[in-house]
Amino acid sequence: MGIEEKLPSGVLLTSVESLVNWTRKASLWPATFGLACCAIEMMATGAARYDTGRFGMEVFRASPRQADLMIVAGRVSQKMAPVLRQIYDQMAAPKWVLSMGVCATSGGMFNNYAIVQGVDHVVPVDMYLPGCPPRPEMLLDAILKLHEKIQHEPLGEKRRQEQAQETPPEVPY
Ligand code: SF4
Repeated sequence: MGIEEKLPSGVLLTSVESLVNWTRKASLWPATFGLACCAIEMMATGAARYDTGRFGMEVFRASPRQADLMIVAGRVSQKMAPVLRQIYDQMAAPKWVLSMGVCATSGGMFNNYAIVQGVDHVVPVDMYLPGCPPRPEMLLDAILKLHEKIQHEPLGEKRRQEQAQETPPEVPY
């Protein structure tokens, strides 16, 4: 049972929500997951010059079990779609998805049979970031906007969204 179910409704809920969300946003760990050229900018964002450690994202985790943020950096091929979904399903809840770049968000210039026309056909997306490729500053900005979103999420809301998404969306493999 999660903390959301244990709390009596109305009692100090705003403060607890605020504290829990603050800890969640301040310790997002991204999955090590890059698909194409956007991933190079994502890697640069994690390096010393931009230093995502400042925001609690000390490390990219090699195991999805230890990650709660998926940055989809690059185009998603039809063959990669079920793998991406599997990694998402293996991530610990609550979890968030950031679609980085036009290819991940809409297929971009790859309007063809090989590329999924938007990763939201495969996993639920919390934040879309435009650009080809987005610069590290843009990725940092999207991460901070995601922090803001997490800070104001009602407790239990994420779980409800995840339950609604437990049946994977249809992917035309
Ligand atoms: Fe590459 Fe641009 Fe697509 Fe990113 S948005 S994967 S940089 S082509």
